[in-house]
Amino acid sequence: MKVLITGRLPEDILEDIKREHEVEYNDRDLPMPRDLILEKVVDKDGILSMITDRIDKELMDRAPNLKIIANFGVGFNNIDVEYATKKGIMVTNTPGVLTDSTADIAMALMLSVCRRIIEGDRMTREGRFRFWAPMHFLGREMSGKTLGIVGLGRIGMAVSKRAKGFDMQIFYFKRKRLSKEEEAKLSVRYLPLDELLRSSDFVSLHVPLTSETYHLIGERELSLMKPTSYLINTARGPVVDEKALIKALKEGRIAGAGLDVYENEPEVPDELKEMHNVVLLPHIGSATEETCYRMAEMAARNLLSALRGEIPPNCLNKV
Ligand code: NAP
Repeated sequence: MKVLITGRLPEDILEDIKREHEVEYNDRDLPMPRDLILEKVVDKDGILSMITDRIDKELMDRAPNLKIIANFGVGFNNIDVEYATKKGIMVTNTPGVLTDSTADIAMALMLSVCRRIIEGDRMTREGRFRFWAPMHFLGREMSGKTLGIVGLGRIGMAVSKRAKGFDMQIFYFKRKRLSKEEEAKLSVRYLPLDELLRSSDFVSLHVPLTSETYHLIGERELSLMKPTSYLINTARGPVVDEKALIKALKEGRIAGAGLDVYENEPEVPDELKEMHNVVLLPHIGSATEETCYRMAEMAARNLLSALRGEIPPNCLNKV
């Protein structure tokens, strides 16, 4: 069958797919242009897509043979799953294998922003480290503070596990509250979102991007946070109203932010770049050699099994 792979994969995994199918492949570390995807997808039976590809009605309507969209990523807000289901196209993602790497980046952002790691590195490289003094370059501690986790799923749980090593008290918010037994076992306390925002020294976002979570954190929510607290976003950019975040940071209504994702990626507003109390990463939550390999393996397994006529292991829809 015919397969389109829109991003570069480890060589041996690409070979596994090539052994069974005719493959067209983007071998550059750049997103495949949409026009090219629309052109190439026409005769394809399967697509192994990246989270930067918009897999919408227009694209699916151009590909009458399409049976499987195997996304390279756990988030699948780039795919119109409802329309795929209507058309009988299976959609898969790569859950679990990027949990630890993304949780590590959330922790790294927390520490970087509260201990001013990036600012300090810049100062040292620029030759501005000229003295030590007791009141110089003070940050805030992470140990023993409160952490509010919004979305306590796989990644949120992994963050809570790490935060316990810092003696943090953990609050969480999600739609379906855990049982009392689970909460006790995980040492986490449920708080409604507003209360969580009021009570947390760090707020870390781990919800998927859906119509419900779009701008979940806006001006009102940011105004509930403490002026000494930090917002960490490794989920998806549009979960936060970026304009409202910039305003809150400018007005000192929160202490800082650590961001891996942005509302209009890869665009990052200049106002954020100019702020010393904001740490900015280029969407590298899952970007480790180990995780990339596991995601590629999982996406390839999903693709191959669907093309063999099976239900792939990580199928998100019933077709
Ligand atoms: P997950 O296991 O599905 O967890 C999602 C959590 O969000 C669940 O606890 C869910 O609980 C909660 N949730 C969903 N909708 C909600 C809503 N409207 N309000 C409040 N809570 C809600 O997903 P995961 O594997 O942890 O991944 C989370 C997200 O991280 C992904 O969707 C992806 O967008 C992002 N991500 C980013 C990177 C990166 O590179 N920065 C890497 C990996 C993942 P309830 O259903 O009970 O609400």
